[in-house]
Amino acid sequence: MPANAQIYNTLSKELEEKQVTLIAVSKKKSVQEILELYNFGQRDFGENYVQELVEKREVLPEDIRWHFIGHLQTNKVKEVSSFIHLIHSVDSLKLLKEINKQAIKNNSVTACLLQVHIASEESKFGFNEEELQEAIDQFLNTEFYNVKINGLMGMASFSSDQEAIKMEFNSLKLLFEKYSKIKTTNFDLTILSMGMSSDYKIAIDEGSNMVRIGSLIFGARD
Ligand SMILES: *Cc1c(COP(=O)(O)O)cnc(C)c1O
Repeated sequence: MPANAQIYNTLSKELEEKQVTLIAVSKKKSVQEILELYNFGQRDFGENYVQELVEKREVLPEDIRWHFIGHLQTNKVKEVSSFIHLIHSVDSLKLLKEINKQAIKNNSVTACLLQVHIASEESKFGFNEEELQEAIDQFLNTEFYNVKINGLMGMASFSSDQEAIKMEFNSLKLLFEKYSKIKTTNFDLTILSMGMSSDYKIAIDEGSNMVRIGSLIFGARD
């Protein structure tokens, strides 16, 4: 199914006016579908699987900014380290340590978001509030000079309860405000990545400045 030009144009205009960055989530979508959206002007794409990302990147334009949004295994970091624009899904200090190690090899600094568990479902990855505090404390005491923490990411529950979703996003917004007060060379929160196809409007109302949208633009995934 081709990307929907009209939906894309309306959405990107709406988000631009609100100064919200659109990440087009292209997991399970073909190179042709991505190119089509690229030709509409989209440059930020999000992928969930390392192998799929690496294969697509090889054949797609070099000026695409690739965002990693899925669960990242430590042993896969080296495959994306040299080119990844932003890793949204950092959920352990162990992973950060590996991202730092690979970035040193590439003589680069890798931009990261810390993923926070805000949903009521058990299955989602991410730090809870207590773990987040602990991870930030530890990070500020490490010498991970090749990692930069730029913000927070979270996913709300898969629910039709709009009020519950709003409260979950609000809890992440409050954490974002709290930790934005800390500013160091490698820790400076400016990005709040929250909101997907079904809940991005609520997320923006709650302060999101980066949304990750797949099915609304590309159509449902198989
Ligand atoms: C798949 C995915 C999205 C996009 O979901 P849609 O409902 O298709 O918009 C956003 N964020 C993450 C982390 C995802 O895995």
